[in-house]
Amino acid sequence: MAKLSVRDLKPTGKRIFMRVDFNVPLNDAGEITDDTRIRASLPTIQYLVERGGRLILGSHLGRPKGKPNPKMSLKPAATRLAEVLGKPVAFAPDCVGPQAEAAAKALKDGDVLLLENLRFHPEEEKNVPGFAQQLAALAEVYVDDAFGSAHRAHASTEGMTHYLSPCAAGLLMEKELEYLGRAVENVARPYVAIVGGAKVSDKIELLQNFLKIADTVLVGGAMAYTFLKAQGVEVGLSKTEDDKLDLAKALLQDAQSRGKKFLLPKDHIVAEKFDASAAAETDATRAIPANRIGLDIGPATRAEYAAEISKAKTIVWNGPMGVFEMSQFAAGTLAIAKAVAASSAVTIVGGGDSVSAVKKMGVADKISHISTGGGASLEFLSGLTLPGVAALTEK
Ligand code: AMP
Repeated sequence: MAKLSVRDLKPTGKRIFMRVDFNVPLNDAGEITDDTRIRASLPTIQYLVERGGRLILGSHLGRPKGKPNPKMSLKPAATRLAEVLGKPVAFAPDCVGPQAEAAAKALKDGDVLLLENLRFHPEEEKNVPGFAQQLAALAEVYVDDAFGSAHRAHASTEGMTHYLSPCAAGLLMEKELEYLGRAVENVARPYVAIVGGAKVSDKIELLQNFLKIADTVLVGGAMAYTFLKAQGVEVGLSKTEDDKLDLAKALLQDAQSRGKKFLLPKDHIVAEKFDASAAAETDATRAIPANRIGLDIGPATRAEYAAEISKAKTIVWNGPMGVFEMSQFAAGTLAIAKAVAASSAVTIVGGGDSVSAVKKMGVADKISHISTGGGASLEFLSGLTLPGVAALTEK
């Protein structure tokens, strides 16, 4: 269902509450060490400012556990936003109450106000209606540009939308929904899903959904060993989830009954132990010796997966193929990054580790869409409804 976008609004003279993601890293001196998230919100902020909107920005920062904590104040974010925006940004020292209300009322067309950390109030994460109503009372229109928080039903992502209308997607949110939408509806085929990472248990729903919507699923990372073990293949000392063997069997069976390709590694990079100094050895067989641990996919698997990727029209990738943080076990993940980047398909990468892999390879600009929301993109691709998205007004 298409959601209303900021481009459908008439912002002039309106007080607009915009949920942003200014959850930026701060050092001990309280300085912002990476302002990517602030810069990412600029297109939507500029769009509304240029059209005379009166912007009230709300965000969380860190986990202050419902209490004010000066170490997690958004004040530095207001200063940085003013610098990159090239105009003053007012700051309210509390996100609700008389000061926030006065600051919101004082806004003129094109002015910007940033509220203090929403999570200084426990009611934010608990989604308490009275608190959501207080936030909503600051504004007339709601915009959500924080895709990374859309899988949480908090007061600022869901609760307050009950008291404001219309509720529209910001430009960042709109792009996420457009691209991730292409991975779940009216997809171009063949559709290849690549899933890696530490655990099967973290990605059960994702795997189940890919077995429904994709044509081919390529599995790597530690989770592959749980599947191999479920097939009776010797995996040595590799990390497995032994309580998930039945689930792995059921997923393999599901793939078979649906006639889907579900590929597991056929060779590996192994070592004596899980250690940055461990020597990498190539193991050309599917089975791993009893005294070895599997830490990356091997060259034959890389070639097989790359061949599948080259045939695809839609590719979604979540999770690394091995312990890519250690350079001797990074080749599998980097080979996948290269293959995905070389493809002319719609390519979508989500999840922190696969995102850092494509950046490390210097191919980020060759990917159609790199999702900003780790947990949110995982839930979206798992076919789940995100409360923050469901809350937006339909076109
Ligand atoms: P995830 O957050 O689920 O995407 O998992 C990412 C983590 O899985 C990374 O830190 C990888 O080092 C780790 N990982 C990938 N492959 C393996 C493996 N074969 N053995 C142990 N850890 C792995």
